[in-house]
Amino acid sequence: MPDSASPLPSLDALLRMPAAETLAARFGRTATAAALRAELAACRAARAFPTPPAAILDAAADALARRFAASQRPVFNLTGTVLHTNLGRAPLPRAAAAAAAEALASATTLEFDLATGQRGERDEHVGRLLREITGAEAATVVNNNAAAVLLMLNTLALGREVPVSRGELIEIGGAFRIPEIMARAGAVLREVGTTNRTHPRDFRTAIGPETALLMRVHQANYAIAGFTAAVPPAELAAIAHAAGLPMVEDLGSGSLVDLAAWGLPHEPTPQESLAAGADLVSFSGDKLLGGPQAGLVVGRAELIKRMNANPLKRALRLDKARLVALEQVLLLYLNPDRLAEELPTLRLLTRPAEAIRATAERLAEPVRSLWPDRPVAVESCRSQIGSGALPVDLLPSYAVTVGGKALESLSAWLRMLPRPVIGRLAEGRLWLDCRCLEPADEAAFIAQLRAPADTW
Ligand SMILES: *Cc1c(COP(=O)(O)O)cnc(C)c1O
Repeated sequence: MPDSASPLPSLDALLRMPAAETLAARFGRTATAAALRAELAACRAARAFPTPPAAILDAAADALARRFAASQRPVFNLTGTVLHTNLGRAPLPRAAAAAAAEALASATTLEFDLATGQRGERDEHVGRLLREITGAEAATVVNNNAAAVLLMLNTLALGREVPVSRGELIEIGGAFRIPEIMARAGAVLREVGTTNRTHPRDFRTAIGPETALLMRVHQANYAIAGFTAAVPPAELAAIAHAAGLPMVEDLGSGSLVDLAAWGLPHEPTPQESLAAGADLVSFSGDKLLGGPQAGLVVGRAELIKRMNANPLKRALRLDKARLVALEQVLLLYLNPDRLAEELPTLRLLTRPAEAIRATAERLAEPVRSLWPDRPVAVESCRSQIGSGALPVDLLPSYAVTVGGKALESLSAWLRMLPRPVIGRLAEGRLWLDCRCLEPADEAAFIAQLRAPADTW
């Protein structure tokens, strides 16, 4: 039905209205006209006559705001899991994030040597730091630890066998499974031992002419307890070397420092793996290391050189922004005395329970005034490190809890805030674990709870 025959305003008439001018200034004429056309069509289809022009403009404004809104946004992570994979894992130091943003908007020395004016090495910005920090001969970096494992296996074990203990054939969330990545890397998995017990002789008897290397995988997100046995890294390395094979280790989280120095449970370090005799060690950039998503491999220069010569390396390499962020984060490791202050991941993991409790106490009042009819309390709870690190070790923390009915809709409301708040539902309450809400962010958190809904 043409506009002239319906009780709806024409597109032209709508576009001439001041509210449409405002939309056009913000979203452009093309998009504004398209939104108004869509609203007119919807009114016609629903036979919603007459619809006042202001209502059509309002609906178009809503549609435009939704269409132009970015879907990836910062959130408040009050889940109690510090390295939350779904929420982007490690938060970067502000300075590292700013340096990465600057690099994205500029030309940089990515592959340019200022001293000679010649082509430079992209990975060397972080390579020198990784060598210094871990003591390794060489290092290389790729998209993530899954890519690092893929590249190690594809380079060193294409078409050949890799014995792995059955206790280490793990699945990490998000479809990373050792047997599958091994198949895609073109290596042949040779399972040895049993789920709970694997012995040195299991590896020794598995080695044959087709064996390419021996591999160890950090169990990451699960633990085996009870009647267990595993081959220690040093022994596995000795077995490999006696057969003239390399031993490689997928360390998963791989902290670059001994977390026990900060009162946290010890997590294996690449330095320890190298000292035990591993020839290559891979680990993630955005887990305990506290940097951007990346996969880091350190170890013997000759093996790293072969990995860098693999055409897959080019497909898996890092971009300048992440290399800048990673370099900035690794620089912090040169001053371990200040690491727990400067590196957000370590700062959050080592935050004293009493400081978290103080944050929870300050939050409780604004939360209570939002929902005066609900029980609101400050309760002790346990945070998790996340990302597969130390799954059995939980950190003492404090949360603001909200009880009552319909907690699902309460959570949904918090997710609709300008900076969405992500908590956790358990035991009939909504838990807002305050570990990851640092004092600097408290004001912003409270302000958006206090703002009346129609100002968003
Ligand atoms: C996390 C993890 C991976 C995958 O690392 P990404 O950086 O997420 O790709 C692989 N292996 C182990 C043991 C892990 O813990």
